[in-house]
Amino acid sequence: MTIASPAALGTPAPLDAMSQDLVALVGAQDPEVAQLMAQEADRQASTLELIASENHVTPAVMHAAGSWLTNKYAEGYPGKRYYGGCQFHDRIEDIARERAKKLFRCGFANVQPHCGANANIAVFMALLEPGDTVLSLPIKSGGHLSHGLKPNFSGTFYRIAEYGLDPQSELLDYDAIERIARECRPKMIICGYSAYPRIIDFARFRAIADGVGAFLMADIAHIAGLVATGVHPSPFPHAHVVTTTTHKTLRGPRGGLALSDDADIAAKIDRKVFPGSQGGPLMHIIAAKAIAFGEALRPEFTAYSRQVVANAKALAAALIARNYRLCTGGTDNHLMLVDLRQRSADLTGADAEKWLESAGIIVNKNGIPNDPRPPMVTSGLRLGTPALTSRGLKEPEMAQVAGWLDRVMGSKGDAAETARVRDEIRAFCAHFPMPH
Ligand SMILES: *Cc1c(COP(=O)(O)O)cnc(C)c1O
Repeated sequence: MTIASPAALGTPAPLDAMSQDLVALVGAQDPEVAQLMAQEADRQASTLELIASENHVTPAVMHAAGSWLTNKYAEGYPGKRYYGGCQFHDRIEDIARERAKKLFRCGFANVQPHCGANANIAVFMALLEPGDTVLSLPIKSGGHLSHGLKPNFSGTFYRIAEYGLDPQSELLDYDAIERIARECRPKMIICGYSAYPRIIDFARFRAIADGVGAFLMADIAHIAGLVATGVHPSPFPHAHVVTTTTHKTLRGPRGGLALSDDADIAAKIDRKVFPGSQGGPLMHIIAAKAIAFGEALRPEFTAYSRQVVANAKALAAALIARNYRLCTGGTDNHLMLVDLRQRSADLTGADAEKWLESAGIIVNKNGIPNDPRPPMVTSGLRLGTPALTSRGLKEPEMAQVAGWLDRVMGSKGDAAETARVRDEIRAFCAHFPMPH
């Protein structure tokens, strides 16, 4: 990590050379868009990114995603394309698939899904018929919209049964899930979440699925980087299929991935990704995925993932010390759900998100289990440490971040206090440059 000189204090780290060239090049042709791109680069560099699903990629990943590989149609799979001129794309996709299999220790990988939700569409189509029953955790309890929300494809074409969290502990209640599975006889059970701060017991889920003859799908979109490095237990060999995004804790380009250890299931998924639900693959993104998987296979990435969790635990402890209640009492992974009601009965997630943004702290409001407030207001915040850890922040800085969070929320977004915090964070960020 490079520490900025005192003279640079308060100035965000400059863009890497290729990014500067990019802004200049776009600017010569389209100053309007180039200006906004540069402003966004400054926003990212000068604020604290605590959205649990976001991260900062390396320049190698970023520039591969912005390369000439975008020009190519490569419908099909390596060796079986519908277009000529694919020899280098075949090799890039093979490398991405091989690295994905090595990273997650499984037999089959499809690297083409454009995003996590698309990977899930392919799995639903591969394993289910329309109208089949799927058992999942609803979004209001920490699930994902692609696991059965009514307006989503999943809730439109399939029958969705729900399990919940234990109302006291806010943890997965495996005995209750087993009971519900016996009642609704699902064809597929989904585990893996967007806002669950604890370890998932994949073996127990598989036992429940086996008891009712269901497939088990593990959607590890949030925890993929932790799973790849052994910081969270692996869904293999328990899950029949595993889906994920590549851009959250895995720190790759925005995209999806579908994994399996079963040749028949893998062949079905391949057909449902293409031609079932997508056309041409995004080969620039697949190259960026290959690079990110290569990074994740290095020992430094294991150290990074451990630090992500250590930082989350440090941030959680510092918030608890300031009288915030955390759902489940803390965290085992990269994220935490803060219940704001204990600190202040009238503090809402929506207000906190808005005040914190003006102070340079980027978070998202999030419903807490059994939240009495509606989804656009909420009583909670979801905080995650993957992005801050990519900038080199460690445990001592987490205590500082908790202090800033509390000053803004404790002052109810007071303009003068918020402006002071904004200045302090801008100066602080200059010491923690983006991955370079
Ligand atoms: C983020 C997420 C996804 C979907 O990701 P997109 O790339 O936005 O489609 C799927 N499942 C879970 C559990 C997620 O958290």
